Amino acid sequence: MAGKKYVYSFGGGNSEGSGAMKELLGGKGANLAEMASLGLPVPPGFTITTECCVDYFKNGSKLPAGVEKQVKTALAGVEKQMGMKFGDAKNPLLVSCRSGARSSMPGMMETVLNVGLSTKTIPGLIAKTGNERFVYDAYRRLIMMYSDVVMEKAEGIEPAEGKAIRKQLDAMMEELKAKKGYTSDTDLTVEDLKLLCDKFKKQIKTTLNREFPDDAMEQLWGGIGAVLKSWNGKKAVSYRRIEGIPDDWGTAVNVQSMVFGNMGDTSATGVAFTRDPATGDNKFYGEWLINAQGEDVVAGTRTPNPLNQDTCNEQNKHLKSMEELYPELYRQLFDIRNTLEQHYHDMLDIEFTIQEGRLYMLQCRVGKRTGTAALNMAMDMLKEKLIDEKTAVMRVSPAQLDELLHPILDPKAEKSAQLIARGLPAGPGGAVGRIVFHSEEAVKAAAKGEAVVMVREETNPEDVEGMRAATGILTARGGMTSHAALVCRGWGKCCIVGAGCLEINEVAGTMKVDGKVYRAGEIISLNGTRGYVYAGAVATMDSSENPKLQHFMKLVDKYRRLGVRANADNPEDAKIARNFGAEGIGLFRTEHMFYGKNSEKPLFALRKMILSATPEERQKAVKELFHFVKKDIKGTLTAMQGLPVTFRLLDPPLHEFVPSAREARQELAKALGIKLIDIARRAEGLHETNPMMGHRGVRLGITYPEISEMQMRAILEAAAELNRDGHTCKPEIMIPVTCDASEIKFQKEILARVAAEVAKKFKVPAVEYKVGTMIEIPRAALLADQMAAEADFFSFGTNDLTQMTFGFSRDDIGAFLGDYLDKKLLAADPFQTIDQAGVGKLIDIAVKGGRSVKPKLKVGICGEQGGEAKSVEFCHKEGLDYVSCSPYRVPIARLAAAQAAIRCGK
Ligand code: PEP
Ligand code: MG
Repeated sequence: MAGKKYVYSFGGGNSEGSGAMKELLGGKGANLAEMASLGLPVPPGFTITTECCVDYFKNGSKLPAGVEKQVKTALAGVEKQMGMKFGDAKNPLLVSCRSGARSSMPGMMETVLNVGLSTKTIPGLIAKTGNERFVYDAYRRLIMMYSDVVMEKAEGIEPAEGKAIRKQLDAMMEELKAKKGYTSDTDLTVEDLKLLCDKFKKQIKTTLNREFPDDAMEQLWGGIGAVLKSWNGKKAVSYRRIEGIPDDWGTAVNVQSMVFGNMGDTSATGVAFTRDPATGDNKFYGEWLINAQGEDVVAGTRTPNPLNQDTCNEQNKHLKSMEELYPELYRQLFDIRNTLEQHYHDMLDIEFTIQEGRLYMLQCRVGKRTGTAALNMAMDMLKEKLIDEKTAVMRVSPAQLDELLHPILDPKAEKSAQLIARGLPAGPGGAVGRIVFHSEEAVKAAAKGEAVVMVREETNPEDVEGMRAATGILTARGGMTSHAALVCRGWGKCCIVGAGCLEINEVAGTMKVDGKVYRAGEIISLNGTRGYVYAGAVATMDSSENPKLQHFMKLVDKYRRLGVRANADNPEDAKIARNFGAEGIGLFRTEHMFYGKNSEKPLFALRKMILSATPEERQKAVKELFHFVKKDIKGTLTAMQGLPVTFRLLDPPLHEFVPSAREARQELAKALGIKLIDIARRAEGLHETNPMMGHRGVRLGITYPEISEMQMRAILEAAAELNRDGHTCKPEIMIPVTCDASEIKFQKEILARVAAEVAKKFKVPAVEYKVGTMIEIPRAALLADQMAAEADFFSFGTNDLTQMTFGFSRDDIGAFLGDYLDKKLLAADPFQTIDQAGVGKLIDIAVKGGRSVKPKLKVGICGEQGGEAKSVEFCHKEGLDYVSCSPYRVPIARLAAAQAAIRCGK
């Protein structure tokens, strides 16, 4: 491994790396390099590559050869630029060690600040700054952070509840403050801080059995090692699982000269977004704190000041903005904001520090945003000619679009709801759920399908799994840039932070406001877009009326090649699907009319048909059923006017339709004119050991051709009647669960006869129809050339195809899927996202096989995966004609199809 370049320097208008090197330098390192090259005021430093992190773990948690030397050389370069020396008694340089992965993982990995302060360097820094208090404040911060991150967490020490070193030191500081009657950390005097530092070091020795290191170089290597190790820390690993970030990316380590926002009243630190990350408004948006270090803003322990007028809200309106207090510096920052947007063509999230009136840029990265903001910014930036159409389409992820289609609190219902608190609108949309106070409870409740709102004093990175599981998050503390807000916004999760009027007692499980106590289990509602908290359940509604959304979807359609249809089985769903932009129905499951609303009568007829013992009985039941089937088909064809509708012949799980209740059986017996005992006997005869591979799909139409015939007649007659009335219907008849071309041929013979009879009955031009098959059995995929000879189209039934390819029962996978995912034996649930390696291979064989016989063979997919973005991209690449998914996923599939086309260059 020797000889690799592991260290890249930046600063002084010059960088070895660039913004394009995110994989190697991590997001933070690459952007620091880019900003430095743009001539922005970046404190000089260097980045240790992600490759070093990967090699470090390969190397048994040891730094690879060459790193030490490269770090020393880079450090010498920084010393030269700064005119200071690391570890020097007279003119000491201090540095920070920060993590920075390829994609941002806010708060999930570690940072150590003020590295290089020791008994040797302290006097020099005091002499240089003339500010003893500042130096000891920096020292106590270093001790607190370093002991926590480097000496405890990185060593894998898991302290007992409340015994973590950071907690102990915090408690000591609070105790001193209370004893002296101080309200803020800034009240601590030099003497207090000196005393605290001494006590801290003793406590560290007692708790961790090691001295706090008093050597700058030892601190630096400790900091670097801890950042590397934090890649495999518990919270980082959990966050990667949720976000699907691969474990083998590694983090970079950024070592950068310290600039101080806590040097007094002309120093400050802040975080800003070049546009509003919640709404997307083109307004510079940020928060800052005078006399503070970065951690103070993110930790949410002090309410930050607004950056400017546009950032004022209920919580901070009494505080002075930077625009008011330091107009010159604000102007400079505003110019940097414009430079960055023009350079990156995107909204950025920036961190800055002002040290004694001088502005420094510490970080910039593409900012996380809500779905609403993503959409609004994409369309605004397109209008501003900052980006082109394709970029605009790529700017909204399928998950963000999904978020836009999610409910908000109904404004009318909100008017009469009981407002109990206000906080900051940190994550969009509405959430209604039961209060929980702990992450584990949220996870448990979500597993049971219950909606919960997680209520916390403030969230911390350990809470990510609970935050993910909850419908909404509510905290009493924290600002718009606190880590909770960043994480939720990235996920598009409804979130309110900093609702300061709430008194939360997580241990007792209570939330008190205005003298009223709310307990765990009580329902509350959140409006995350406004920051309002309501008692009880407030009605929710759809949020997709934004005109920019319509415009965006038009653009999306311009760039996609893949068609998008819906799986719908009744006129209502068909209408919804059409409104969402479906270009037809790809799967009408006839059996769905026997479930739910208004299904009693057709279900009764179906039961009679299933339990018939003689052809006469069956014929009678089939005739009865005909009218119901035809009615639903006609309604759906009407709703889809002019668009193709694929009707799948019955594929019912027969046994599920046989009633078990005595009364229902009695009623059936009466209708069939048989005894109750006969019903039991016939039901027994229908029992199957393995119904998924039993008497289903086309097999039913092979045994009872009259059932297929009835459906074919219903479809063709409904279409003929509508065509006679001036409609244009394009029915497609789809045969399910086939494994051999002979099955299709058998069904087609029935269809040809029925079609001729219908044509004769209706004196209109014969109905134009297509007949095709589902490909959902591996044999059908392998023999696709033969199947295609008999079919006008294929539709992949990837639910069954996945079941039969893996041999995983689609109804029973829940018992073991979790283990497969946890043990990383499978990367994802194959029933949600197509398994491209196996099922995908069969699809590929089938597409090629089918089109070798019929080059223009229409091919689609109608399994659940048809609405999932990665699967849609796969379908695009396979050259499918369309995907079909549930109506609410139609817009997501349209977007995923456009993005796939753009990514693949069409
Ligand atoms: C399939 O198997 O993918 C399919 C769409 O059919 P069903 O889910 O009804 O079996
Ligand atoms: Mg199926």
